Amino acid sequence: MIIVMKMGATQEEIESVITSIEAMGFAAHVSSGKERTIIGIIGNERPLTPDNFELLPGVERAMRVLHPFRLASRDFKPENTVIPLNGEKIGGHKVVLMAGPCAVESREQMREVAYAVKEAGVKILRGGAFKPRTSPYSFQGLGEKGLEILAEIKQEVGLAIVTEVMAPEQVPLVSRYADVLQIGTRNMQNYALLHAVGASGKPVILKRGMMATLEELLLSAEYILLTQSNAPVILCERGIRTYEDSTRYTLDINAVPVLKELTHLPIVVDPSHGTGRWQLVGAAARAAVAAGADGLLIEVHPWPERALSDGAQSLKPDKFARLVVELRRVAEAVDRSL
Ligand code: PEP
Ligand code: MN
Repeated sequence: MIIVMKMGATQEEIESVITSIEAMGFAAHVSSGKERTIIGIIGNERPLTPDNFELLPGVERAMRVLHPFRLASRDFKPENTVIPLNGEKIGGHKVVLMAGPCAVESREQMREVAYAVKEAGVKILRGGAFKPRTSPYSFQGLGEKGLEILAEIKQEVGLAIVTEVMAPEQVPLVSRYADVLQIGTRNMQNYALLHAVGASGKPVILKRGMMATLEELLLSAEYILLTQSNAPVILCERGIRTYEDSTRYTLDINAVPVLKELTHLPIVVDPSHGTGRWQLVGAAARAAVAAGADGLLIEVHPWPERALSDGAQSLKPDKFARLVVELRRVAEAVDRSL
């Protein structure tokens, strides 16, 4: 942290700042210029609060030097984290597709969609058994029955399973069935849940809170990484809330290159929730791959008009298959494969 003293700060004020720094177990490095004195705090500044230093007499400003997250940062680990899953490598050269319905509704629906996405080249199937719905009157998911259907389909079709876990006490149950635990946008800052999924050892897809900054997303990832330092965490941009209301959310494509700069963790994009309309999913997905996303999480439903959740943003299997062909061309254009 850097503390900038006010112009004309007295020697006594400077000494007193140094004393406070040393009392907290840090070393102070003083640099006295013609106009101002600057004091550097040497050591892990993350537990410190800059605002507190600004309360001391003679201090003008206190600024952090380090990113507030450490284990998630590229400074800590310069090379990309690669997470192996069912023959895929999330965060590697190949852009990885994860597809399936918003919610598990029936065995027939899951079987239909699983074979269709597998045919299109997908190895990871998504589907929610516990659904975080905005209205308590909406379909809440099949719960454990949904997990059982996922397990059967996984066995039969040979796909890895991504499914959401909504509460810490559900983690042991959901972990028995899922290959990847999804933390939904509404739970990005549920710290008890972040600890629980971290401790499970399973790969985690951490969705960005719809009103969270990228720094907040990375601090949530840091919670998981602190539970287990090489915890396999995959970040997901899924759209944020803005004043624009012609789409369900505003997909923040900038998040992809910004996160690539800041972190070694893989980044996937969810163009389904990010747009809310199946007609827009293709354009958003192509943009995500062009921007450098490591994967996509796409909602596919065999009968969207009958879907119990998110039918409007779900692609039918034939449209999904055509999109995969287009995405492959985009991936090749940016020196990736798909
Ligand atoms: C989902 O993936 O179906 C879902 C509920 O996502 P989000 O948490 O991003 O709304
Ligand atoms: Mn959904």
